[in-house]
Amino acid sequence: MNVPSSQQLRLLPAVERVLNLPPLVSLCAQYGRGTVTGWVRQTLHDFRCGAAGPLSSIATEIEARVVQMVSELAEASTLQRLRKVINGTGVILHTNLGRAPLAPAAIEAMIEAAAATNLEVDLTTGRRGRRAAAVETLCREVTGAEAALVVNNCAAATLLTLQTLAAGRRVIISRGQLIEIGGSFRLPDVFQQAGVTLHEVGTTNRTRLADYAQAIGPESAALLRVHPSNYRISGFCESVAIAELAMLGKQHQLPAIDDVGSGCLYDLTGYGLPDEPIVRESLQAGADLVLFSGDKLLGGPQCGVIVGRADLVARLRSNPLARALRVDKVTLAALQATLEIHRAGRAFTDIPVLRQLSLAADELHARGTQLLGQLQAVTSHAEAFSLEAVMSAPGGGTLPDQTLPSWAVAVNSSNANELSQRLRLGTPAVFARVQEGLTLVDLRTVNPDDDSTLVRCLAESVAE
Ligand SMILES: *Cc1c(COP(=O)(O)O)cnc(C)c1O
Repeated sequence: MNVPSSQQLRLLPAVERVLNLPPLVSLCAQYGRGTVTGWVRQTLHDFRCGAAGPLSSIATEIEARVVQMVSELAEASTLQRLRKVINGTGVILHTNLGRAPLAPAAIEAMIEAAAATNLEVDLTTGRRGRRAAAVETLCREVTGAEAALVVNNCAAATLLTLQTLAAGRRVIISRGQLIEIGGSFRLPDVFQQAGVTLHEVGTTNRTRLADYAQAIGPESAALLRVHPSNYRISGFCESVAIAELAMLGKQHQLPAIDDVGSGCLYDLTGYGLPDEPIVRESLQAGADLVLFSGDKLLGGPQCGVIVGRADLVARLRSNPLARALRVDKVTLAALQATLEIHRAGRAFTDIPVLRQLSLAADELHARGTQLLGQLQAVTSHAEAFSLEAVMSAPGGGTLPDQTLPSWAVAVNSSNANELSQRLRLGTPAVFARVQEGLTLVDLRTVNPDDDSTLVRCLAESVAE
């Protein structure tokens, strides 16, 4: 610690004086005088207790240092703001980077809906209309369901479904499906929150139809299947298909609920990806309700979609909890635009998540070669850059263990972690990954519209 002498302390400027210096006057205009006053007080306090390093004995130097420190506090406060990021991690559904990046049409729809919009009005009659009716119709069209309801996320869909259909009773589920999704979302906790008793059957690795059948009793309210999205059990294992579970449910008049998680609408095995439950197939197999996220493989905004039997959806809709879990107009607009792309058959070209999943490594190599050429033209450190073969991952708690061959622009530097930090602190922030001393920007997850920006950020990161 460099605790200043009382003589030095006398040189510290008054708060009022610092606030009137030109650089701080402009900070006040941007952040508000109260905020900046707080930063000045904090800075002066740090000087008094020695936490800000040794004090100069020249008043103007001290003043300049105070201004610099306050400006740094202002900068630090803006770093925490939500802002644009280029995802070069190769993880397509990167939870920390906001999961699904939206299609341009969805982004435009959000901007349009942000102003006044016909959220709850019928344009023909001018009377009150049902909120989300159009979006629910689209949900039905792309899944073949009888009815649909949109809520805040898939966790909310699970909570609402369990609470409405099974509060005070039991729901039967396989032990192998009592999962935890990222962010400590644990299925048993949701049961508890919904006031539903968990009736576990089978074992971690094997559950048979007979296990469910034997568990059914007067207290049973539903059968639940949860797709173990983020892990796989392999080897000696057995689980019950939704078709069998739905059949059993029908015999006992118990709804079969299928939490498929990722909201996959297509067979992805042609892209070298494993079987994901497909929403339409689950409904065709007899599931009474199917629940999924909007921002995983559907490629839309954060939300949860419930599709299935009209009588059950009507019960969910009339639960007061549905109001608490509903989504806003901006989310509805983004979901609407995303579903319209699915309906039009353009998902694999227009929805970033599906486009990124289906990109061939060759295409990425060609793009990488172009980027290297552009880098060579703008930097005198061209030798720092190369193309490296890498593996991308679907991420977001979907398709675990699955990787896709890809290409990355690699930066060779003396300190790869430091370089990655410099990229993160740039504008826009670039997220790379570090592997064997190289900083890698996987092109699969970079929006091609950002390629020239990426070239600038990379060139800046090696400059000086
Ligand atoms: C991801 C997932 C959830 C949670 O979805 P959110 O939309 O993040 O709330 C629930 N169930 C399954 C099976 C999932 O994969």
